[in-house]
This record gives sequence, C-alpha cells and structure tokens, in this order.
Amino acid sequence: MLEAMCKAPLGDDVFGDDPTATELEELAAERLGKEAALFVPSGTMGNSIAVGAHCDPGDEVILESLCHTYNFECGGSARLWGVQAVSIAGKRGMIPLERIASSIRPADVHMPRTKLVILEQTSNIAGGCILPLDYLESVSSLCRENGLLLHIDGARIFNASVGSGVEVSTYAACADTVMFCLSKGLGAPAGSVLAGPEATIAEARRLRKLLGGGLRQAGILAACGIHALKHNVDRLDEDHRHARELARKLQGLDLVGLRVSSPDTNMVFLEWEGEEPGRYAEFSDLLRSDGLLVVGLSGRGIRIVFHKDADETASQRAGEILQARLTELFS
Ligand SMILES: *Cc1c(COP(=O)(O)O)cnc(C)c1O
Repeated sequence: MLEAMCKAPLGDDVFGDDPTATELEELAAERLGKEAALFVPSGTMGNSIAVGAHCDPGDEVILESLCHTYNFECGGSARLWGVQAVSIAGKRGMIPLERIASSIRPADVHMPRTKLVILEQTSNIAGGCILPLDYLESVSSLCRENGLLLHIDGARIFNASVGSGVEVSTYAACADTVMFCLSKGLGAPAGSVLAGPEATIAEARRLRKLLGGGLRQAGILAACGIHALKHNVDRLDEDHRHARELARKLQGLDLVGLRVSSPDTNMVFLEWEGEEPGRYAEFSDLLRSDGLLVVGLSGRGIRIVFHKDADETASQRAGEILQARLTELFS
C-alpha cells in the first residue's frame, strides 16, 4: 500500500485531473455496478453528502434508531441540510417493513415529504449483522413503489459480501446510492466512496466542495483505496473467522449473566447485567492496560473488532486476555 502511494501519478482532483483519484472512482463504480462514484475523505462525509444530494430542507429521512447517520454524525442531516429524521427501532439493523410503510407521509399541505430511507450494511451497533438480501430487496421495492430513494451506509458492505457470498453489486443494486469505507476493515489510512447515478454523483461532487472535502493531490490517498479494493477484500474472511473463534471461546466459559453475540462478520459484542453506568468503559480500560484495545459503549456493551493487523497470534492473545478478565469479573 505504501509503495502504491509513493508511485501514484497525481494531479489536482478539484480540477478533475488526478488520474489516481479518477481510477479509484471508476474501479469503485464498477465494483458496485453504479454509473459513477466519488472519493470522499470520510464515511461521515459520504453519508452526509448523500442526504444532501437526495433531500431538500424540510424533507424526512427514515432510518434505524441505532444507525451511524442518526447517532454518530453530529446531527449533520438536520444541521447541514435541514432534513428531519424519523428513527425507528429495528432488529439486527432491520427496520420492520410495515413500520417503514406506515411512516411514509401522505401528500398533505401540512406535512413534510418523506424522501429517503437509509439502511446500514453491516449494521454496526446492532452487532456487525448482515442485512439479508431479501430484506434489502423488499425495502427497495417498497421505496420504488412509493417514490422514495434508498441509501445504503455500506461502511462495511464488503464484510457483508464476504460473509454472505452475495456480490457487493447485488446489494448495491437495491439502492440508489451506496457509501463504503476504504478505511476500517479494508485497511486504507483514510477515505470512503459514494457511488450512484451520474447526476447524483455530479451533485455530490459540488456538495463535497461545499463541505471542504475537495482534495488536491487526492491520488496519494486514492492509491491506498485502489490497493485495498484489489488486495484486502477476500482476506476479510480471516477477520470473520477470528471473531467466530473468539465468540465460541467466550460462550464456552459459561459465565452466568454474560451475553456473547454470535458474529456474522468481524465484530463480537459482550453484554452483562449491572447497575454501574460506567461498567463497560471501566472494563475496556482494564483491557487497555493488558494491551487489548476494544470499545466500551455505554449502555450497549463491549465491542471487539477484528482487522487486518490483528493476526493469528494477536487474535489468540486477545482471547486469552478476555478469558482472564471475564473470569475474574464473574467470579
Ligand atoms: C465508521 C462508520 C461511518 C463513518 O465513517 P468515518 O470514516 O469514520 O466518518 C459510517 N457508517 C458506519 C456504519 C460506520 O461504522
């Protein structure tokens, strides 16, 4: 990746003449089966631009209540675009179809217009769950029948694809636009891509500039993204195996009160009953002191994520540390 970065031919991408950024955008569009794609500095910016490109101020977007766009993007849809969120509790990242249907506003002079549905593939906080293809297809049909647009926050859509065996382009075909991260599991230092129809991506390019996300010699980062797409997708399977092995090991401890998720992809979630509000943060601090970095999500549990730089030995070691600390905690 570093070598690809050093060798990348560069230009000024704000003028549209950085050949490496253009190559990444063409490659990503092809992989997703979309007309066009746009390289953006972050997944947050990609999602935000999608909302801005699809919606007018006052419009409504339907999304799942644990999702990233609703919880972890600083309220950007409201702040930047004047878009109102309708958040609906789901299961494993899926909003019940009938709840989407009943949330669509009728044409009425009093009411906002429902414009967009957002789904997350994989669903992060729900457990790294893969949204099944038939669910995505049903939401897609519902959207088309009702004149709504569908955006997939596919930060980890390649994990979903490797985990399920469904092509990324098959998932993407359900949606109007798809964002995915080159960082995270794919191992690039930064960057995401927003893909969709030509006209939407042309507008997205304007909005990227508006947000200050137009990068000049963008190719230096785009080169990492090209390398990631070419070399780091199939290996995601290894991260999924590490997650499954850890979950099996911790489930096998039979600690009463400990809930261990059964991972679809590269994440394992731990939860337990307790009163103290800071218990997950405290536990993650303990693990940090052992050299294991996890995220403690207050009220939701401990999130353990496997990735390219956690090899066989490191993953085994993570399991040993967790086993020791959990046994101590539950004794
Ligand atoms: C990380 C993430 C994002 C945003 O990506 P950043 O590059 O961190 O801004 C969006 N959606 C989901 C589901 C994510 O996990």
